[in-house]
Amino acid sequence: MKKLSLMILTLGVLVASPSFAFAKTNIFACAPEWGALAQEIGGDKVDIYTASNANQDIHHMRAKPSLLAAMRKADLVICSGASLEIGWLPILLNKAGNNQVQEGGIGSVMASDYVPLLDVMQEKADRSMGHVHPEGNPHIHLDPNNILFLSKVIAERLSEIDASNSSAYQSNQVSFENSWTQAIAQWDNEGSHLKGQQVVVYHKSWTYLLNWLGMEAVASLEPKPGIPPNASHLKQVLQDIEGKNVKAILIAPFENEKGAKWLSEKANIPIIKLPFTVGGNAQSTDLKTMFDDTLQRLK
Ligand SMILES: [Zn+2]
Repeated sequence: MKKLSLMILTLGVLVASPSFAFAKTNIFACAPEWGALAQEIGGDKVDIYTASNANQDIHHMRAKPSLLAAMRKADLVICSGASLEIGWLPILLNKAGNNQVQEGGIGSVMASDYVPLLDVMQEKADRSMGHVHPEGNPHIHLDPNNILFLSKVIAERLSEIDASNSSAYQSNQVSFENSWTQAIAQWDNEGSHLKGQQVVVYHKSWTYLLNWLGMEAVASLEPKPGIPPNASHLKQVLQDIEGKNVKAILIAPFENEKGAKWLSEKANIPIIKLPFTVGGNAQSTDLKTMFDDTLQRLK
C-alpha cells in the first residue's frame, strides 16, 4: 500500500513537472519583436525569454549572468544577426556551452539570414566608419513582409526541434499568416500617402520601414553609425536639409532626444517617437499593434 501511494505521488510529481510530460520548448529571443513572433507561432507549447526590452539599445547590451542562465537552457535562439548583437551574443553562446543553439545549429535562427538585406556595404568596413554593420542593415523587423518570412522559418524550426507539436506550430503559422497578410494590405493602404516623404533619422534603425513605405531618410543625427550626435554634425544636417520638405525626425524610445530637439527647434520639424519594437509605447502590446501605432504616428 505504502509502495503504491509512493508510486502515485511520484507519478503526480512527474506529471506536474514541466520538464517531464509537458516540457515546453525554451526560446531565447534577443529582442521583443522576435519574442512576440515566437509567441504567435509557439503558442502554449513554448516558454519565451526575451533578452532585452524596448527601452534598451540592442547594439550595446552586456552578457549578464541572467542572460547566460537563459541561454544555457534554450532550445531555440532567435536574434536579428548580421552583427547586430555582436557585442554580447557571441560571448553568451561561447560561455553557455549549449551546442544546439550555436550559430548554424538547429536551434539558431538569425533573422537577417532569411531576408534580402539593405545597406549592404560595397567597400570593406573599417573602424573609421563607426559602428557599421558590414553584412548589411540588421534592423529588418520593421518591414512587415520580413516578419511574415520569419514566421515560416520559426514554424519550420520549431517543428524540427519539437516534432510532437509540429501540427500546432504549422496551424498557428497559418492563422498568423492569414491575419498578417490582411493587416499588411491595410497598412499598405493607410501608408500609401507617405510615399516620397522625407525624414531625418537618428540611426539607420528605420531603413526597412522607410523602404517598405517608399519614404526616404535624408540625414542621420549620428555623424557615423553608433557615434552620438555632436554640435558640428547637427549644424551640417541643418544646412543639408535647408529647402527640403522634411516631414519629421524619427527617433526610437532608447535614443537620446537632445540632438533631435535642437534640430526640431532650428528647422521647425516635429519629432516623431515611434515604438520601434513591441513594448516601445503603451499602445504597442504585440506586433500588430506596434505596426498599427507606427502607421498612426506617421500620418
Ligand atoms: Zn544598427
